[in-house]
Amino acid sequence: MDRDRILLTPGPLTTTLRTKLAMLKDWGSWDADFNAVTAQVRERLLDIVNGRDTHVVVPLQGSGTFSVEAAVATLVPRDGHVLVLDNGAYCKRAAKLTQMMGRKATVMAFPEDAPVSPEALEDRLKADASITHVVLIHCETGTGVENPLAAVAALCDRHGKGLIVDAMSSFAALPIDAAKLKFDALIAASGKCLEGVPGMGFVFIRKAVLDRCAGNSQSLAMDLHDQHVYMGKTGQWRFTPPTHVVVALAEAMQQFVEEGGQPARLARYTQNYRTLVDGMAALGFKPFLRPEIQAPIIVTFHAPAHPAYDFKRFYDSAKAKGFMLYPGKLTQVETFRVGCIGAIGPLEMQQAVNAVAATLREMGIPNGNPAH
Ligand SMILES: *Cc1c(COP(=O)(O)O)cnc(C)c1O
Repeated sequence: MDRDRILLTPGPLTTTLRTKLAMLKDWGSWDADFNAVTAQVRERLLDIVNGRDTHVVVPLQGSGTFSVEAAVATLVPRDGHVLVLDNGAYCKRAAKLTQMMGRKATVMAFPEDAPVSPEALEDRLKADASITHVVLIHCETGTGVENPLAAVAALCDRHGKGLIVDAMSSFAALPIDAAKLKFDALIAASGKCLEGVPGMGFVFIRKAVLDRCAGNSQSLAMDLHDQHVYMGKTGQWRFTPPTHVVVALAEAMQQFVEEGGQPARLARYTQNYRTLVDGMAALGFKPFLRPEIQAPIIVTFHAPAHPAYDFKRFYDSAKAKGFMLYPGKLTQVETFRVGCIGAIGPLEMQQAVNAVAATLREMGIPNGNPAH
């Protein structure tokens, strides 16, 4: 097989040849040519959320979680109190890192198979005036559920709370308009729906709160305010930038613009999603979430009930056919996940479904029907 295996995961994702080829060059981190690439990437990122008037964007080396941690450390004062809306694994991670950053964190638990509830949030905000910030995961990648960003943003605005949004797996695919939604920080990364390679995150920070962020971070490397001030002065990243990742992102964003931007990306991912769920339904598989609350980003399926099913064998067999599936992240029920994002279209998704069908035949499993 002369094609790379297709990654049906929530990042790293399948990238285009153009994006891969962009990495075949060395760049000086202090050099004007590279600084121009960084500046262009930052401007284009702001355009995606229509945020040039209201926000700055600060890139940071590392995986997406580094930027979530940096956003909490930079935005939340040390005596702040963060309410984390929790309906899945990435929410729990955000709560954990908030606590580890020494901020008071209160976790508000919701069922994993439903969006977080704005009504319940409002009751909590009314009941506890000490809350300064709310953390929301836009698309909870642990299950694939889409959380009500607009409603939560409106509530935080009304109650005067800072909103920090982890939009890692939704940014550039689901619509987010900074002129319509008020958020203090919104976080995403290079290797998700922009279809770059992993290695850097970026945080949109509302200009109105930027000055107040000075000195909040107890970490030097994770201080986004310092990174922003330094970049403003020098055009350079504070410490060694992931040069190849940045130029690959610039190239991936050029293709994003050529494709038609966020609406076109959402349309393609939606086609991928439909092809996937229709094809899997025909094989007897059942999604974990109701379709109304499911984002077209990643789908959690119940594992087949058949005694011959074993995720490791299922995974290895699909991999041998060129498709990389993703394990489930739920503790109560056995599941696996399939990503709809990356530089793939419905054709590749149909091939993935065909590979799953062949895998079931090989394993002697008549269909994907779950236990109940
Ligand atoms: C991918 C992702 C992250 C970041 O994960 P990393 O492994 O650190 O890149 C954070 N939040 C969500 C919702 C994600 O999908």
